[in-house]
Amino acid sequence: MTAQLPAENMSADQAIAALSTQSQPRVSEAEMRQAVRTLLIGLGEDPDREGLLDTPKRVVKALKFLTSGYNQSLDELLNGAVFHENTNEMVLVRDIDLFSSCEHHILPILGRAHVAYIPNGKVIGLSKVARICEMYGRRLQVQERLTAQIADALQGLLNPQGVAVIIEATHMCMVMRGVQKPGSWTVTSAMKGVFAEDARTRDEFMSLIHHRPAFH
Ligand SMILES: [Zn+2]
Repeated sequence: MTAQLPAENMSADQAIAALSTQSQPRVSEAEMRQAVRTLLIGLGEDPDREGLLDTPKRVVKALKFLTSGYNQSLDELLNGAVFHENTNEMVLVRDIDLFSSCEHHILPILGRAHVAYIPNGKVIGLSKVARICEMYGRRLQVQERLTAQIADALQGLLNPQGVAVIIEATHMCMVMRGVQKPGSWTVTSAMKGVFAEDARTRDEFMSLIHHRPAFH
């Protein structure tokens, strides 16, 4: 299969979807390393000094890992872990550590996700909720899209009565540069179904994610 550049008239999401299904990278590993070497020279560094000799190789490896979510699919990740279960009670997985990279600066986004759904005959393994967050986190992101993708994934997989996702995160591009505001957090949410329609369900979710468990 020939890798193709995303067409210019694609939306950002379509372009990302196209990228995520590409079977071959468009540039070689050597070209990627060369690009990092060029960056180092541009920064006034000597890429041939001892400490930097392997840096291009390491940076490319790290970036590939941090964006490895592009090469995963929900099917592969779930591996059939969807079960039939007649429960109407909220399932909440909270305080999921989340690491992503902002697409504007390729700098870390560090945070936590809280994910809930109310089943409609189907549930997934609890660990899979965290794995879904991880898959979308390991892409170049904006926090708003990351939040929506996690909610859309659960909606599509389970067709539940409702899905709620809240992400609280701090962006290194704001903390270390730009406005330089350590301690600032960005909160994004995506509410679907009963969480969007029913204030009581939403309130229950909000109080559960703020509750401190006795064993903490
Ligand atoms: Zn950024």
